[in-house]
Amino acid sequence: MERTLIIFKPDCIKRKLEGKVLDIFLSKGFNLKACKMMKLDMDILSRHYDHLKDMPFFPGIVDFMTSDNVMVLVFEAENAISKARELLGPTDSKKADKGTIRGDFGTDMRMNVCHASDSVESAEREIANFFLPEEIF
Ligand code: ADP
Repeated sequence: MERTLIIFKPDCIKRKLEGKVLDIFLSKGFNLKACKMMKLDMDILSRHYDHLKDMPFFPGIVDFMTSDNVMVLVFEAENAISKARELLGPTDSKKADKGTIRGDFGTDMRMNVCHASDSVESAEREIANFFLPEEIF
């Protein structure tokens, strides 16, 4: 079993898609282990997107990710990390196939509905950035 960190981004919350997207994960066999609503800030985002913080589009990501509340979730499943990335589709929603979350609900490269961890190491680091051990059930 693996755990993955999922974020329902501001576009997901603004468009009231959180119920639909949660249902997709649950119906595909993911078990919910932790969940909270948050308003992100620069500190937590700089840690979360450490690999992107020197990119020219990083300020745009910060503006977007702080533009509304987000929901942060931990899911557990067999091969949760690759399974969640597959379910989301590629970063650019315009290139995502219909039937994927980004393909069905995303707008573009930035407004792409959800974040999902991309490796076991990132998942561990990201989960620890958002949750205390006792907040995971
Ligand atoms: P993913 O979220 O698919 O793992 P990355 O880790 O590369 O992709 O990027 C993190 C997030 O930063 C993306 O989901 C997207 O919201 C934003 N992003 C990535 N690349 C760009 C870009 N070229 N322009 C605008 N936003 C971007």
